[in-house]
Amino acid sequence: MKKLSDFSRIPFGITPTPLYKLENISREVGKNIYIKRDDMIGVALGGNKTRKLEYLLADARDKGADVVLTAGGPQSNHAMLTAACASRIGMKAILVLKKRGELTGGNLILDNIYNAEVRFVDTDSYDDVYAEMEAIMATLRKAGHTPYFIPVGGSVPLGSLGYIACTEEIAAQSKALGVRFDAVVSATGSGGTYAGLTYGTKLNLPGARSVGIGVCDDPFADIALDLMKGIKDLLESDVPVEKEDIHIRYCIGDGYAIPSPEGCAAVRRLARSEGILVDPVYTGKALAGMFQLIEEGYFMGEENILFVHTGGAGALFAVDLLPEA
Ligand SMILES: *Cc1c(COP(=O)(O)O)cnc(C)c1O
Repeated sequence: MKKLSDFSRIPFGITPTPLYKLENISREVGKNIYIKRDDMIGVALGGNKTRKLEYLLADARDKGADVVLTAGGPQSNHAMLTAACASRIGMKAILVLKKRGELTGGNLILDNIYNAEVRFVDTDSYDDVYAEMEAIMATLRKAGHTPYFIPVGGSVPLGSLGYIACTEEIAAQSKALGVRFDAVVSATGSGGTYAGLTYGTKLNLPGARSVGIGVCDDPFADIALDLMKGIKDLLESDVPVEKEDIHIRYCIGDGYAIPSPEGCAAVRRLARSEGILVDPVYTGKALAGMFQLIEEGYFMGEENILFVHTGGAGALFAVDLLPEA
């Protein structure tokens, strides 16, 4: 089996990110709730895409790329972090964004600060976005450039290696704290983070289950299985990928990136009890999903739960929370 150090990586993040117990929330819900602060990873406003980009942009650089293209919604954290990381290594970023939702503020301000070229495609389908990206790449190649393509969310097996790395950090931190985690909970939007965390949990956190909270209605069980098989192949690992490893719940509300009452309540709850910001698109809904599962008794007998904070605070400045109930 290969080691992570066998893969090219650019250390954009400041790691290990902090991991500690949420004392107030734990008291309130009657479980030991810990948090892994990937929102504090040190690039822009933080977030999970940083870990994926450490491997993806290293691959881009190894392949001689001088421009990176990626896609997302207008407030994409992934696109913004691609711009941030690319600018740090002197690579141009072109962000092709699906024109729907909030078209000013938030991450679009940051895209601009990081000097990314932003292009909007007026569509509801990523097929149209990818077609536009193909056209841009053909033009770039003709002009002598070497473009590197990253799909939505950076959710390819190579990007997911970043979350194998995260589970190695969690294993070391868990040992140092003397706590064995029973469950690892994360937000799922394109599947790559969950796939990495789930396969990594199997490798590095024996006895824990990885629970993904879907924030849009894509079939994440299948998506995660495919990505995990890809990770296994990359690592040349003998550890099997099994359906039983996958635990997906959904907490979407009215739709992707539409604030939900539960999600907004979770944003306010974590802010007021622990001082930590989650967002209404990903991490607030994931946290709300975790609270629901605790109430349902889903974690019966499982006492130590780790919430992986994947970032997203930029959305707070573009997407209004629902009024307080
Ligand atoms: C992209 C994103 C996620 C989901 O990660 P995926 O790998 O796309 O499933 C979760 N939280 C935040 C803040 C994100 O930006």
